[in-house]
Amino acid sequence: MNRLYQKLLPYIEKNSAYDTALTLLSWDTETLAPPDAGALTAKAVGILSEEAYHVFVNDEVISLVEQLSTEKEIKTLSDTERSIVRHIKRTYDRLSHIPPEEYREYAEFCATAQQIYCHAKQTGNFSEYAPVLEKMIAYTKRFTAYRAKKGEKIYDLLLEEYEPGFTIKVLDPFFAHLKEELVPLIRKVCRHNDKIDKSYNYRSFPIGKQKKLCNFLAGYIGFDFNRGVISETEHPFTTGLHNHDVRITNHYYKNNLESAIFSVIHEGGHAIYEMGIADTLTQTPAAMITMGMHESQSRFYENLIGRSEAFWAPVYPKLQKMFGTTLSDVSLDQFIHGINKAEPSLIRTEADELTYSLHVMIRYELEKMIFNDECEVSELPKLWNQKYEEYLGVTPQNDTEGILQDIHWAMGSFGYFPSYALGTAIASQIYAFMEKKLPVEDLLRQGKLSEIREFLREHVHQYGSVYDANTLLVRMTGEEFNPDYYIDYLKEKYTRLYQL
Ligand code: ZN
Repeated sequence: MNRLYQKLLPYIEKNSAYDTALTLLSWDTETLAPPDAGALTAKAVGILSEEAYHVFVNDEVISLVEQLSTEKEIKTLSDTERSIVRHIKRTYDRLSHIPPEEYREYAEFCATAQQIYCHAKQTGNFSEYAPVLEKMIAYTKRFTAYRAKKGEKIYDLLLEEYEPGFTIKVLDPFFAHLKEELVPLIRKVCRHNDKIDKSYNYRSFPIGKQKKLCNFLAGYIGFDFNRGVISETEHPFTTGLHNHDVRITNHYYKNNLESAIFSVIHEGGHAIYEMGIADTLTQTPAAMITMGMHESQSRFYENLIGRSEAFWAPVYPKLQKMFGTTLSDVSLDQFIHGINKAEPSLIRTEADELTYSLHVMIRYELEKMIFNDECEVSELPKLWNQKYEEYLGVTPQNDTEGILQDIHWAMGSFGYFPSYALGTAIASQIYAFMEKKLPVEDLLRQGKLSEIREFLREHVHQYGSVYDANTLLVRMTGEEFNPDYYIDYLKEKYTRLYQL
């Protein structure tokens, strides 16, 4: 091993230890912590974050990273080591311009901002949240401006944090293409929507049985219960400490069966990715998967596989049996049409596969306006509602079902949303490639999900974030990111389902 690289190892381990502690605290805050824990825990988070900040932001680390980045040294590193050095450099560049004191204040502020947001959402009171959002935007602008080089757009730098390479230059034409193709398709689908009856989904499904079903589905797609747990939160999510401890959450509604089913398949997809990262990468910065790639795997499971007839053919009879007579009058065909019913709606997380990306596009357009200084925070609810009216033909009745529905901005996660749409598009590209190599449909019908998981592990999961999305796609499929697979997939699927 390169001697300079060897000197980095204790820092990498220390960084991972802080990361584990902070991730656990955040998991605990979301799942188990009592309601009044807030401010005091936030203080501990602030102090730990400041300590974590110094692990990579110090003279010895940057000197090692700079030496390792020279042509002579870089040649001696493996792909993984190179990627770790690159990650550390990126973290350094992102953080080193921020005074540590300010960074601690920010970490503390983030922890309380989320609580204020949650309260505002419950009461539908945007004005309670507005000052927090303003402060969060100001922090983000200031921190990003510290490191922006001349001519660099703030929003591009934010986007790069979630999926490197996918900047405004790539995303503008991507969303324009989606808008052009999907808006007319959605209109057509809506004209035929009375064909599909999914009232069965809102019957009464005991929560205990739903949990049993969801645990079964998680295991069925490849979630390893020796390396993972499932808990409950208002909004389902995934968090990973390392490849031997990955945690997901779910939310169960007595009168909505689909919600928990597709949440567990989605989060299960994220978890399978985290569990599949190579042992040599876990607990290093190269295990920090970028969000677009992460979403590609959750959506691969949720949509490409989880909403297909081939997936449900062997599973649906089990599901019917589990709920006694509740679904005995609902055929597999009706169920498949039901889980694929598309109609414009207000809530992103509940949106169907066809309209989902338009929800994302709305957030992308608003974020661009925010960071180009084209709008005030006070104007955001109105702009939000106007865009929903324009693209989806629906108008929120209040801010809880409008701008207050997502927690991301309260967490300082600006630039995150486009990953959801990108992920779905990448998933479609991977699926098209997989179909050339594996009899995917047959495997699904035979319940052989492990072969699909192994394929993804071999081509995607094991690499963590050693390669960026485009490099990974080229290595795997021979082609760079191409959104046409996604559009073709949606057109084909919905034309068939709705007999358009
Ligand atoms: Zn996700």
